[in-house]
Amino acid sequence: MNRQGFYVNIGQEVLKALKDEVTEIEYNRYIKHLTYDSKKSTGDLAIFYTPNALVVNWIKNRYKDKITYLFEVKNGSKVTVQITLKNSIEKRKSRKVAEIKQSSSLLNPSHSFDNFMVGGSNQFAYAAVKSASENPGKVYNPLFIYGGVGLGKTHLMQAAGNVLQNAGKVVIYTTVEQFLNDFIRHVRNKIMERFQEKYRKCDVLLIDDIQFLSNREGIQEEFFHTFEALKGTGKQIILTADKHPKKIGGLEARLQSRFEWGLVADIQPPELETKIAIIKKKCEINKVKLSEDIINYIATVIESNVREIEGILSKLHAYSQLMHVDIDLEFTKNVLKDQINENRENLTMDKITQVVAKDLNIKPSEIRSKGRSKNIVYARRISIYICRELTQNTMPQLAQYFGMKDHTAISHTIKKINNFIKDDEDFRVKIEELTNKITTSS
Ligand code: ADP
Ligand code: MG
Repeated sequence: MNRQGFYVNIGQEVLKALKDEVTEIEYNRYIKHLTYDSKKSTGDLAIFYTPNALVVNWIKNRYKDKITYLFEVKNGSKVTVQITLKNSIEKRKSRKVAEIKQSSSLLNPSHSFDNFMVGGSNQFAYAAVKSASENPGKVYNPLFIYGGVGLGKTHLMQAAGNVLQNAGKVVIYTTVEQFLNDFIRHVRNKIMERFQEKYRKCDVLLIDDIQFLSNREGIQEEFFHTFEALKGTGKQIILTADKHPKKIGGLEARLQSRFEWGLVADIQPPELETKIAIIKKKCEINKVKLSEDIINYIATVIESNVREIEGILSKLHAYSQLMHVDIDLEFTKNVLKDQINENRENLTMDKITQVVAKDLNIKPSEIRSKGRSKNIVYARRISIYICRELTQNTMPQLAQYFGMKDHTAISHTIKKINNFIKDDEDFRVKIEELTNKITTSS
């Protein structure tokens, strides 16, 4: 008989012997449910489990000495008896996992790769995130995604999170703000080891809008160590920001350089076709039926921020339900009127010329000057066109702003620009690109 078999017998024999020592009611209520752990028990340690958390202390107080006594009689040597709650060890473990899972419950299940429409503007970021989700910790680590507001950074990051979570990985999705709050809470409760364990033992860490680390030394320090621990054990880290790591500013040099260690991928404002695909997808998800001309209209009106598309669709849907009308183009235009004005209200001619000047590497004052050099004229044309399209300024106001003699001069210029747009593909693309840039950064 092997050692284990020997103890199995003793444990069971002790429980059997106990039956004679207690009343029938006590036996049925307490002893009957005790089990002996033959695997974990050793020559001098006997482990018994009870499934009932409420009575574990009661059993200990009342029967532990008796059990020890009976055990030692049969064992012939000293024994420590342990009576614990069944699965308490497993429970502790699963509580930890649940704690971690809590942080990842913020993952939005509809942020999936399938629901993400891919076009030239986002295909690089899409491919990078997809590949990181297929080979976590192996290919691009960290993966850093940056781009303007509402361009799908959070969506992509969470798509990876969903895939990995479904594959059984412990995924933490958090913003810098939540990370910081969590840190403070753990410091205050003097349970820093729990914080470290949580963030350093997960399989995948997703931190959204990392630009908010800027100028916050304390949390940068903590984040640095988290980063090192995860990276060192080959765990996947994905970060997003509104700008390239080099441009974030107020970041410790060691963090900035680490952000560029893996892969830095950008997301640009979507082109028209991608916007159309996104609107169609959102219609499908939200069960809204729209005709092609309405979809095209929305795609042209919404410059770049995809987040607005969802708002528009639900607004259209709600209005049509409340007013019992079908959604046609006229109706859509009416509903969107306020939204468009609202978007453009904050947009000034100063802002537009600043963005154009920066992009074309000249000074804003040169755009408004009488300069005739080729690149200044080019920048001026683009600025005038965009100001006319995106702001509420009248022709005389435009003429005045751009230093033109009168309204004939400005209308002549605008006519000319319209012809360029028709004939010159590069010019049109540049205007589109700058329009997107201006509307995303507002
Ligand atoms: P960001 O984090 O870059 O500000 P989000 O990821 O929150 O942007 O995206 C804003 C909204 O636009 C979300 O509802 C997201 O689903 C949607 N969205 C953005 N890009 C796409 C895309 N390419 N395909 C489908 N939906 C998109
Ligand atoms: Mg986001």
